[in-house]
Parts: sequence; structure tokens; C-alpha cells
Amino acid sequence: MNARLNNDLKDTESLLNAALQVGLKYLAELDQVPTSIKVSEEANMPELSAEGKGGLAILQEFKERFSEMMVASAGPRYWGFVTGGTTPAAIMGDMLATIYDQNTQTLKGHGDVSGKVEFETVQLLLDLFNLPKDYLGGFVTGATMSNFTCLGVARQWLGKELAMDVAKNGMQSTFKVLSAVPHSSAIKSLAMLGMGSANVQLVKTIAPTRECVDLEALEAEIKALNGQPFILISSGGTVNTVDFDDFKGISKLKEKYNFWWHVDAAFGGFAAISPSYSHLLDGWENADSICIDCHKWLNVPYESAFFFVKEKHKFLQVETFQNSNAPYLGDPLENFNFLNFLPENSRRFKALPAWFTLKAYGKDGYQEITERNIRQAKQLGSFINESSAFELLAPVRLNTVCFTLRGEMNEAKIQAFLDTLNDSGKVFMTPTFFNKRKGIRAALVNWRTTENDVLIVQQEMQKAFDQISKMSF
Ligand SMILES: *Cc1c(COP(=O)(O)O)cnc(C)c1O
Repeated sequence: MNARLNNDLKDTESLLNAALQVGLKYLAELDQVPTSIKVSEEANMPELSAEGKGGLAILQEFKERFSEMMVASAGPRYWGFVTGGTTPAAIMGDMLATIYDQNTQTLKGHGDVSGKVEFETVQLLLDLFNLPKDYLGGFVTGATMSNFTCLGVARQWLGKELAMDVAKNGMQSTFKVLSAVPHSSAIKSLAMLGMGSANVQLVKTIAPTRECVDLEALEAEIKALNGQPFILISSGGTVNTVDFDDFKGISKLKEKYNFWWHVDAAFGGFAAISPSYSHLLDGWENADSICIDCHKWLNVPYESAFFFVKEKHKFLQVETFQNSNAPYLGDPLENFNFLNFLPENSRRFKALPAWFTLKAYGKDGYQEITERNIRQAKQLGSFINESSAFELLAPVRLNTVCFTLRGEMNEAKIQAFLDTLNDSGKVFMTPTFFNKRKGIRAALVNWRTTENDVLIVQQEMQKAFDQISKMSF
């Protein structure tokens, strides 16, 4: 064995402890760690040397070069995109997933128990979201891959309706996809699946200021298809204004027309945990497939998301993802193997962080996090409503605040405000465009966020506004 490697083998315990100390320092200081930094380009890219230095020396180099540059994306005021943190139990699970290094595939028979833990975690998630047990689920790297997986099965379903096996023979015609406000990752999935990103037919929303589908317009589009099967992508929380399509209304349409119904509820699905907001999802239990992220509101480390696909579609799902060209024999649940149900073959022990955190904090824990973040988003919304500097672009429906500067739209000024705010390092938000206006989004899904964090952000917003008010645009 290579000498450095052999030394590290003997020193494993002290090396892991040393690395853990670096991580614990970050967590202890997370409140003060900046939410963004300026990354300068290094003049020369270092080359890989023939001789390694061993883990401890490299930890030292990492500390000197990079550890101080880690931003507080796991912290309480990182409100850009939709960025969750990591609960203590989720970190425990993630660390152990790395150490055990299982390859999660089979459920029984040969192999290991990690597949069983994943299966159990899927059941826990169905409980968390109050969904019926007629779904099969599995873990993938993010909501993009979850959308991809669900739409992959949808593609196979639609092919079958038109008497073709797309998984086997490829696409032989264009498929109809309808959606009001699809997430960019659903469009990307259509591109990756060969269905074509340009083939989504956008359906009217109920008003220009809303992002939920107009059911009458949708039904008119469906009628115009003359019985042709199609895929409907609906939103369980859009990213700008967290608008929800009317799932009860869509359920009724599903009784009348032949389509695959996919729900992208990457973060909005968490509304199901709160009795005050669960009505937003009423009817979603009739969807053929549902996408939910874990590295957002479940607060587990990247990369974690899962899909739910109705069990009755298990044969379509296996046709889409089976890892051999041989026709699948028998019931795919008999010798269940995840690699026949999702894009990846080899996979890490993905479910373990979710399993740890779900068991550690239970339904009550997640209801508290969800409702607290919603309360905080509304707190920020009230501040904006009452301020002379800012205005809301949409009411705060759940956990996201979409706002802009009051008055005539001045894109340069809005961008300067956002840059100044983010440069403070105290908070991070991201730009958007809504209803023809440039705006800013703050999405709250972090378990650590306190009401005081919202007050800190309000002060920083005021400071940044005062600063740019002295500049001319
Ligand atoms: C974040 C998000 C996605 C994409 O998720 P990734 O985890 O980044 O792949 C898809 N849909 C919605 C509604 C989202 O919020």
C-alpha cells in the first residue's frame, strides 16, 4: 500500500476528528459566516503532484485556502433560490451514509439493508405529507431529477396510449404537454427526455398577477386535443409567488379526460404538514406523480429529493428505467431493485439523512419549522407593505417574499440594491422577474431562522436602500 495511504489508514480516527472540528467550527460560527463572498480567479491552476501529502496536510491546505471562503448557505439568512439547511440529525445520517458507503439497490435477497431503509423512509414521507400508500417512491439527487423521473414514466405512459414503446424504440411523434407556470427544471427534463422543451403548451393563469392555471382555459385546451392523450405539469408552489394550481379542480378534469398528471411540489408540498395550509394541496393525492425536494424544506444536505409515482404504474416505470434490454419478467416488486425504477444504477445511501431527521423530529418538528418559516415570511411581507422604500409584487402566500423597490421600475437601481444587500454578507436573496417587473425573492426554508433574523434583514434592507438612494441611475 502507498505509504501515505497506509499512514492515513492508521490515523483514520484522528483525521476524521480533525475534519469534524473544521466542520463544527463552521456550524458554531454560522450566524456570523458571510452569506456570500467575492471569489477571485487564481492566476495559476495548481497541478496534481505525483506525491500526495496525506490527509492531515491537505486538511491544513484546505483550511488555509478554502475553509474561510465557505458561505453560510446552511445558515438562517440565506434566502436565495430555495435553500434549506441541515438539521443535526440529518448531518448525523449523512456522515454515516458516507462512512458506510453502501450501494443502495435491492430490497431483499442479496445485498444490504440500505434499500429497506430507503423503502421505510418513503413510507415515513407519505405519512409526513398525509398521502395515500398507493405510491412507490425513491431518492434522487434533486427535484430536477425527480421531475425527470416522473416525466420519464409519463412519457412511457403517453407512448403506450399511442401504441408505442418509447423506452425501447424512441419517440415517433411529438407529445402534448400542458402547463401554466412550469418550473424551469421541468422544461429541462422535457429536453433531456427527448420530448422537446418547446413542446409545452402554456395555459392561461387565472389573472396576470397569478401563477395558477385557469381551469376553464385548461379544459378548452383539452377539448381542442380531441381525445388525444397528454401530460399535465402542475405546480404545488411556484417559485416566485408560491401559487398553487387548483388540485381539486384538476382531479375533476382527470375523471373526464385521459392524461398523466404530474405535480411539482418541490417545496410547496410541505404545506401539507400544516393544518392551516394543507388545503392548498387538497386533491394532489390523485396525481400520477409528485416531485418533492429534501434539500430544501426537509433540511437535509444536498443532494436529496424523491419522487412518488402511483404503484399502478410500476410496469411503465420499470420499462422506462430497467437496466437491461430483456423484457421484465414478473412483478417488479417481487425482486425489487431501485435501479429499475430511477435513473441511477449505483447510488449512495441517500435516504439515511432523511430517515434520521424524520425520526428525530417527527411530524411536530416539521410542522413547527414549516409554520415558523411561513410566519417569518409574512413578518417580512408586513415590513415591506409598510415601508416607503419597498413594495410586494405578490401577497405572501407561504414562505416566499417577492418584492421590488417602490415607484417607477428602474432595473439598474433594483440590481444595485440587491448587490449592496448581498454584499453585506448578512443575507442573501436572488433576482427574479414577475408580471413584467424586475423583482427580488426571499425564500425561507431554513430550520434555524429566528424572528430576530428577520429583524436583522429588515435593517440591512433599509441600510442598503439608504446607500443606493445617494447614487444616481
Ligand atoms: C428547486 C425546484 C426545482 C429544482 O430542484 P433542484 O433540487 O434544484 O433540482 C424544481 N421545481 C421547483 C418548484 C423548485 O422549487
